[in-house]
Amino acid sequence: MKFLDEYRDQALARRLVAEITRLQTRPWVIMEVCGGQTHSIVKHGIDYMLPEGIELVHGPGCPVCVTSLEMIDKAHAIAQRPEVIFCSFGDMLRVPGSRGDLFTLRSEGADVRVVYTPLDCLKLARQNPGREVVFFAIGFETTAPANAMLVARAHAEGLTNLSVLVSHVMVPPAIANILQSPMNRVQGFLGPGHVCAIMGYREYEPIAARFKVPIVITGFEPLDILQGTLMTVRQLESGRYTVENQYARILDRNGNPSARSVVFAVFEVGDKKWRGVGSIPKSGYKLRWEYRAHDAERKFSVADVDTQEPAACISGQILKGIKKPHDCPAFGTVCTPLHPLGATMVSAEGACAAYYAYGRHLAPHAATGATK
Ligand code: SF4
Repeated sequence: MKFLDEYRDQALARRLVAEITRLQTRPWVIMEVCGGQTHSIVKHGIDYMLPEGIELVHGPGCPVCVTSLEMIDKAHAIAQRPEVIFCSFGDMLRVPGSRGDLFTLRSEGADVRVVYTPLDCLKLARQNPGREVVFFAIGFETTAPANAMLVARAHAEGLTNLSVLVSHVMVPPAIANILQSPMNRVQGFLGPGHVCAIMGYREYEPIAARFKVPIVITGFEPLDILQGTLMTVRQLESGRYTVENQYARILDRNGNPSARSVVFAVFEVGDKKWRGVGSIPKSGYKLRWEYRAHDAERKFSVADVDTQEPAACISGQILKGIKKPHDCPAFGTVCTPLHPLGATMVSAEGACAAYYAYGRHLAPHAATGATK
């Protein structure tokens, strides 16, 4: 298959692994930030291909996984109102809140709909002037432009029956938070390719300098990840700590200025609570004051909902690279994709779901046949 095989070439992969092995003189812990990268690593057994001393740990870059329990509960509280048409991307519907998930709520009669683009909500709001259309606007910087465009279009059209429940988070404050933790083990990062396609990677340069860590913005195919790992190991072994761009076929240092200007016309930066991690200052987006009429939290008075994580779930430690899914006693036993306890088991990009999907709950390395 054209354009995929090139990035999955086994001979090239072996050469990259051989070069990493040749360079490596001591153990290193490297975090891939994105859930898409985690999925690719587990699917292709890339962590097992690497030499013994190179450990890949899984980061917080899965948008569904880090959406706080409070936000899921707020979504519930809004979606169960009879006047509301609650719209979301499909994977958010299965994330368990403290009162169950949105799919269950739908089976009980709530009008919960899956949309494929936020702009679908404009049509629904126009067609249903007597009802309230609410979109669950989650994700990293990658999804923020389309969600910002939805709000700007609704505002321009005077669609007062359309609002958004905003749970947008930003990657750079999360990386800084991980590095500030006394339990931090991460020495280098494979940075988020898709996020940087929008935002560029200037914001990562002060983080690399302040914490003396290499950050290599990396793509999602196996050879991307191996090359990103090689570039990170090369910096670590030579004592360098800069931001480099492995994903140059997609992005540059400045990202997409048009997309960024849409985002900052509608959103401003604010504190945000991350699931399993807690509140991180200035780590998310909230609607600007002039768009407050489209703020679902304000419209439906759900700002004060407060909830607790299930005690058994260690996804917060997994998202910080301190533990891995198979360190969780619930992994593959009481917590499975059919009965998830935490969000990292629900989302296709979640580390627990990826470990389960590729058989790592069955026997060590059973799914890949790897020996590491
Ligand atoms: S296996 Fe389930 S309970 Fe354990 S950390 Fe993952 S999501 Fe949480």
